[in-house]
Amino acid sequence: MASSGKVLVVDDDAVVRKEMSKTLQEFGYEVVEGKDGREALTLVRDVQPDLVVMDVEMPGMGGREVCRIIKGTKGFGFMPIILVTARDDIQTKVEGLELGADDYLIKPINGVELAARAKSMMRMKALQDDVVAANLKLRDANERLQDLSMTDPLMGIYNRLFFQKRMIYEYQRAERYRTPLTLLMLDLDHFKSVNDTHGHPFGDYVLKKTGEIITASVRQVDIVARFGGEELIVACPETNASNAKIVGERIRAKMDEAEFKQGEVFHHVTVSIGVAICPDDRIKNMDDFIQKADEALYAAKQGGRNKVCFAFNEEPE
Ligand code: GH3
Ligand code: MG
Ligand code: MG
Ligand code: MG
Repeated sequence: MASSGKVLVVDDDAVVRKEMSKTLQEFGYEVVEGKDGREALTLVRDVQPDLVVMDVEMPGMGGREVCRIIKGTKGFGFMPIILVTARDDIQTKVEGLELGADDYLIKPINGVELAARAKSMMRMKALQDDVVAANLKLRDANERLQDLSMTDPLMGIYNRLFFQKRMIYEYQRAERYRTPLTLLMLDLDHFKSVNDTHGHPFGDYVLKKTGEIITASVRQVDIVARFGGEELIVACPETNASNAKIVGERIRAKMDEAEFKQGEVFHHVTVSIGVAICPDDRIKNMDDFIQKADEALYAAKQGGRNKVCFAFNEEPE
């Protein structure tokens, strides 16, 4: 017969203990026995029972104390406890229940009643376990949902909405502490012809790979996002003009060198980059900051593409 569950039976009185064990075994339970409170705590950890049936009055650590410890320890999960007492004493019952005991039995134990209580506790435990499992699933789903709401599914980088939220914080931080913040606006060159020549799926592949290349070209703390169709934006905190030039040039070169190839299809892809750096008295606010990077990008396009241009035409040394 399959076990109906694992029960830890604790009583200092061997006769009572054996009697309870025998009854529970007859009803299909697997039983582990303990003779005092300390042993009970060890067994709770070692065998992880589905239910504890425990005497209140025991020498040394009594049932109430063990109950308090089990219910106060997070790692055990939900472990139902039935306290067993010789006295039909209302005070003892109330105390035990306040400590978190789930049920009570009075000695002498009636076997049928013990089995019935055990069964109802097992049902409660199963329901509780289901709730825990459902909560874990929900937490996973929420995490996945949060990831989805932040990222662009094609390029595998942050989306524009997330970027703008993060950017508010980075911009304020740069303004308040006067630390340099670099913004790079990127746009793939002649991307329309990639789609036109090789089809949209190849264009998608180029965009996906571009996301990977650019993410690999910047630091972990930099924020890389898809700003529009084939436009990306990168924010680099703590990055001044001369470092911005290094980053921009590195991205430009990596794209220029990259092999965009699927089977027989091959296309050389370049990127134009506009750079703005704040704080700068000529930049009014965050939108203006983005606007300045966009204007520099336009200049890069006008200047022949595959180029890095700076806002206010200020190329660092
Ligand atoms: P320029 O050098 O001036 O930037 O030229 P361009 O052809 O890149 O510029 P344009 O803005 O005219 O073209 C952008 C193209 O990007 C057009 C559009 O179909 C394509 N595009 C936008 N989003 C996607 C996408 O998700 N997948 C694919 N395959 N193409 C996209
Ligand atoms: Mg006792
Ligand atoms: Mg383009
Ligand atoms: Mg564009």
